Order: sequence, then C-alpha cells, then structure tokens
Amino acid sequence: MAIPLVDLKSQYQNIKPGIDDAIGHVLTRADFIQGEDVALLEREFADYCGVREAIGVASGTAALQLALLAGGVGPGDEVITTPFTFIATAEAIAQTGATPVFADIDPLTYNLDPARIEAAITPRTKAVIPVHLYGRPADMGPIRTIALKHRLLVFEDAAQAHGARYEGRRVGSLGDAGCFSFYPGKNLGGYGDGGMVVTDNPRVAERIRLLRDHGRQDKYEHLCLGFNGRLDTVQAAVLRVKLRYLDQWNRRRQSIAWMYSRALQRLHVTLPVADEGGIESVYHLFVIRTSARQAIQRSFAAKGIATGIHYPVPLHLQPALQHLGYRAGTFPVSERAANEVLSLPIYAEMTDDHVRQVISALTSALSAKSAVA
Ligand SMILES: *Cc1c(COP(=O)(O)O)cnc(C)c1O
Repeated sequence: MAIPLVDLKSQYQNIKPGIDDAIGHVLTRADFIQGEDVALLEREFADYCGVREAIGVASGTAALQLALLAGGVGPGDEVITTPFTFIATAEAIAQTGATPVFADIDPLTYNLDPARIEAAITPRTKAVIPVHLYGRPADMGPIRTIALKHRLLVFEDAAQAHGARYEGRRVGSLGDAGCFSFYPGKNLGGYGDGGMVVTDNPRVAERIRLLRDHGRQDKYEHLCLGFNGRLDTVQAAVLRVKLRYLDQWNRRRQSIAWMYSRALQRLHVTLPVADEGGIESVYHLFVIRTSARQAIQRSFAAKGIATGIHYPVPLHLQPALQHLGYRAGTFPVSERAANEVLSLPIYAEMTDDHVRQVISALTSALSAKSAVA
C-alpha cells in the first residue's frame, strides 16, 4: 500500500535509537517479568492520565476483564455497553461471568447514547462501559450522573483514546477505572500485546495487581486465584520511549483530521463531528459515513490507498453473541453506522502530500460515482 492505515515501520525509523537502546537495557538486565520498566511506565502513565494508580497488564482485553473483576462484577450481573465497538469490550464482560447488555449509540459521535442507558438498567445492572470510539471521548458527564443515580460502576474502554480529554481531563480518569490497550496500531502501541488499567481507587489497584499475577502476594503465597495477565518488561521499555511522543503524535493526527475536515466538507459524505465544549479527540481513526462505501473502497484500492471498516458487524449481531437473544433491528443507529462507516488513513507519520492524495482520491471517487448515477 502506498498509503496504509497505519505505518509502524516509518514510526520505528523515526525513533530507532531510543527504542533500540531501551530494549537493549532490558536484554542486559534480563528482568523480563515485572522488571524495572514496568513500574516506571506505570508511574509515568498514571501521571500522564492524572490518576493515582496504573497497573500494567497483558492486553486491553485483560485490562477490561481485570478491572471488572476487581470491581466485583461476576455471574448474575449485567454490564451495559455499546454494540458498536470491538468484540473485546463485550468479551471481557462475558469472561467475568456477567452478561453484556447493549444500548444504542449517538448517530453523530458513534459513542454510547446516555439517553438510551437508563432503559437498559435492571436490578442486576452493576456497571457501564462507555467506549471512547475512534479516539473521541464518550459523553461522560451524563453517563456519570446516571451511574451515580443507579449506583453503577463506570469502566472506561479507552483502548482507542490515549491522551484524549473530556472537560480538560484525560480519559481513563473519568470513571472508576480506565482501560487501555497497547496493541501495536493504537495511538500508543507496543511491539506486541500490552495494556494498562488506571484508577484513583487504591483498593481496585491492589486487587488488579493480585489478579494479574496469580493472586500472588509472595513468590509462592497466593491470596486468590488470578491470571497470568502481566505486561512484560520489553513492552514497557518500548512504551516508555513512545509515551514521550504521544502528545506530539496526537497533535499530528488532529491536524490531519482538520485538513481532511476542511477539504471534504463540500463532498456528499458525513464527517466526524468537530470537537467542542472541552472535548479533545485524538483521532485513532478518521471515520466518514457514506452510502458509496464499496465504490470508494474499490477506487482507493486501485490507487494503493488503504481503507478500513470499524466495524462492519455490530456486536449484538455477532455469531458469538447470539445467545444474548438480540435480533437485527434492535439497535438501528449502530446497524446503520455499520453499513456506512469508512475509515481513511490517519497516522502521525502521514505527510501533507499523503493527506492531499487521499483528499483527491475521495473527491474523484465521489464525482465518478455521481457521474454514473
Ligand atoms: C483494541 C481494543 C480493545 C482490546 O485491546 P487488546 O489490547 O487488543 O486486547 C478493546 N476495546 C477496544 C475499543 C479496542 O479498540
């Protein structure tokens, strides 16, 4: 692909000396499990998010699962979330033994619609997981108000939103715990799997520290049954280097999003809503809506420009979740979004020239389409 969706090779070339050095130190020390860089990254990432505690874990999925378990979520409980997200959000709920319950999204932001949450609450509801999809913070004010009223825990799925802000505060710091993924393609990504839970609650943090490491208090003293769910030291070392670039990389994403939005506003596509009122998105993805998705994808592919669909099947229609008993038509806003969303390339290493090529490719794909119609 001449213009991919994410370019980890050129990112590495840009920061190679720092990365090689950091990995070299781990190899020299050989502290591969729970090593020095894990504790240092936890401190640095907690400070970055503006919270007291951060706990490195094996993945974003593990972060969600361990946060839910530490919050006491389990069999018999229900957890409300959006059907328009990556499977891991619902998977983590199910892995605790609890039942995922969906509520539809806002058509403009693609995030959980606070107005639809209350109708999904039952006496079994224990928690809600808003997802900051595409790097745009969910509407946390109203969500927190509902959670307070019904005594629900709030776990943020911030896997796509490292560094995004809501009313000036970083995501991850807005609920009972925030869950991050360091999957390589995320705004902050390792060279393998990794994740982090952040929280201001020291008891939740303590519980997650136990759960991620076999319930271990001492080498062979186990207070509870847990998991092998640790973040490994090589990943932590890489992530410490990359964390120093995160704000700069997010600013580049924001400026690409701004260039796209300005140039594409006259086209017959729906653009991401602009940030307003203390919301600062970090554009993990730049997602437009169009009824001409297939035609655009074909014409982009012919030019070597990558596109993506995040996500083509809402979770309530996934084969793996059929036992929940949802049918097509239950969440029309999510279903319509799934049919129309299209992700354009956006990553920090993208040049202005790349951006112009994408803009002109979209302009010509849409005019060819209307010429045929
Ligand atoms: C990536 C992602 C996850 C899962 O993270 P992993 O590190 O791949 O386990 C969870 N939720 C959302 C919204 C994601 O994008």
